[in-house]
Amino acid sequence: MLKGQEITVLGGGIGGLAAAAALAMRGAKVTVLEQAPAIREVGAGLQISPNGVAVLDAMGLGATARARSVASKAVVLKDGVSGRDVIRLDFEKLKPGREFLMFHRADLIDILAEAARAQGVTIETGAKVTRVDVGQNSTLVEIEGQPTREAHFVVGAEGLHSLMYRALNVPRDPVFTGQVAWRALVPAEGDEAAEATIWMGPGRHMVSYPLRGGQILNIVAVQERSGWVAEGWNHDDDPANLRKAFAMYAPEARALLERVETVNLWGLFRHPVAEQWHKGNSVILGDAAHPTLPFMAQGAVMALEDAWVLAECLSVSGIEEGPALYQARRRHRVINVVEAANRNASNYHYASPALKFVGHNALRLAGRFASARVLGRFDWVYEHDVTRA
Ligand SMILES: Cc1cc2nc3c(=O)[nH]c(=O)nc-3n(C[C@H](O)[C@H](O)[C@H](O)COP(=O)(O)OP(=O)(O)OC[C@H]3O[C@@H](n4cnc5c(N)ncnc54)[C@H](O)[C@@H]3O)c2cc1C
Repeated sequence: MLKGQEITVLGGGIGGLAAAAALAMRGAKVTVLEQAPAIREVGAGLQISPNGVAVLDAMGLGATARARSVASKAVVLKDGVSGRDVIRLDFEKLKPGREFLMFHRADLIDILAEAARAQGVTIETGAKVTRVDVGQNSTLVEIEGQPTREAHFVVGAEGLHSLMYRALNVPRDPVFTGQVAWRALVPAEGDEAAEATIWMGPGRHMVSYPLRGGQILNIVAVQERSGWVAEGWNHDDDPANLRKAFAMYAPEARALLERVETVNLWGLFRHPVAEQWHKGNSVILGDAAHPTLPFMAQGAVMALEDAWVLAECLSVSGIEEGPALYQARRRHRVINVVEAANRNASNYHYASPALKFVGHNALRLAGRFASARVLGRFDWVYEHDVTRA
């Protein structure tokens, strides 16, 4: 049903490029409008869980994705202050075949952009959309320095500050979580295991994992704070502030932070999931529809799932009926994932030594007797395969 259908995608991030490629695979004639002068990504890591890997596989990108990422073998929770292991969840032992791929974001963007181009997608860079006017059968798209275009079908994938979101919904009212986060990349020493480590601590935690064949390490560090920093994740900070916030951590963790040369800091906000994902011949996906806290590592994965389901719904039900079916298939699942991330927000923190004792011992016990159950709590997220639904 999509053969020759013209579709304009606003935003060339993970969601926009995945949607462009998936729609073009089904015959659509797709143009991506990206504001940046080139398709590139900031330096940061991204974990793609099995439900996201399923989408990459279905798009025929599995082999490239595996070659350009590190497959995580386990997640290890440590007491950040003592450096002692609290629980180790071994993916290979517990769930054979379950793959968590750890990417440099730039590599995943590159893979998706290549896939889109190979399907004939036109990617226009330096095309900043300044206004959208959604009608019943077409949408007017204003682009900085260019004549206004009339688009037949528009996918809003412009992330957190989406114009298309605002054309479809009342403005968002984000709530500061009382947490800020730093992210940084540091050179690896070469002997780091292919696993994610979560360093839990009082009112703070830190996550680290290797990227690019183990040459670099990705660090995300979260601290509870009453004051907040502006939203958006490209605000530079002094690495000394990060080191100071984790000064009570074990030498192994501090040694990682000593290697940080540049760091970004941002405030973490909760956002409601969009009520309305479609209107006329326009839809939204990814962060445009549902920005999430990073505590389930599902933002990009949900964007991949959206992209696949959107392409399938439009292809099976057409551009009139498909958008409503797309929202019906996605919204409930996304709400559950966003709420799980909200609940996870302070799971790795403890307010007092007594709470730490109780919490860590409960985790150790769970790890010894019921590791599968600990990991299985999230089967509903990781084992869901939108490409088979
Ligand atoms: C520190 C951190 C760690 C994370 N870790 C993970 C993880 O491990 N796993 C995971 O699944 N998710 C993770 N996420 C979430 C994930 O990064 C996002 O959910 C994901 O990038 C959303 O993709 P998107 O395409 O919807 O939006 P974006 O990535 O924001 O892309 C939007 C694109 O639209 C373009 N754009 C914006 N406005 C316009 C305009 N007006 N005109 C034209 N173009 C425009 C932008 O330049 C950009 O290229 C993390 C997020 C953060 C901040």
